Amino acid sequence: MRKIGIIGGMGPETTLEYYEKLIDLARKHLGEYVYPEIVIYSVNFSEMIPLMEKGKWEELGRKIVSIFSSLKDIGCEVLALATNTVHIALEHFQKPDGLVHMIEEVSKYSSEMELKKVLLLGTKYTMLSDLYPRYFKKEGIKVLRPDGEDLEIVNEIIFEKLVNGVLDEMDKKKLEMIMKKGVERGAEGVILGCTELTLFKYDVPVPLIDTVDIHVKAIFERSIA
Ligand code: GLU
Repeated sequence: MRKIGIIGGMGPETTLEYYEKLIDLARKHLGEYVYPEIVIYSVNFSEMIPLMEKGKWEELGRKIVSIFSSLKDIGCEVLALATNTVHIALEHFQKPDGLVHMIEEVSKYSSEMELKKVLLLGTKYTMLSDLYPRYFKKEGIKVLRPDGEDLEIVNEIIFEKLVNGVLDEMDKKKLEMIMKKGVERGAEGVILGCTELTLFKYDVPVPLIDTVDIHVKAIFERSIA
């Protein structure tokens, strides 16, 4: 089994989910007491947020790449970044060896589901960047984003509440309304393109694409391959 190295803490709640889900998968598929070795490098998110706000993606990317190389130095062969948004920063660099790229995995999964049009929810950085459209275009899938005010609402819910561990039923309702508007525009699925968005259970008439779940399964498979 290959040792897994995860960069987390952006935010912490979903990093916990990564650990729990990996252990659940091990219990389901491996023998008694058999678990992959996992190293979690949880960053200080307050040092990363200003870089995003100022658009200093390359500087942020350098930090991430250097953490990946310290994870490699201690033997991690399967690497993962437990946030959608910060994958934008990696676009400036060569893909680190062993990286299980979240957006790549989500695009392959969506293609297997035969989706042709999806609504993307995430931070404003993710929704406005070409990260998702670029990977999804390769699979022939069109990515819709919420309109103006709705885009701001989604971003606010993520940064003001969810990354701070605050789950509010009213926010869930707002997100469901935005998802339904996307479905009216022809979305056949909704990408929960921010790891914290997966903390709610939504009631919508199309499949929800859980980026954490897809990512964790891919990490696990790579570790036992
Ligand atoms: N975890 C979130 C994501 O998946 C947003 C927080 C961040 O900027 O990393 O995009």
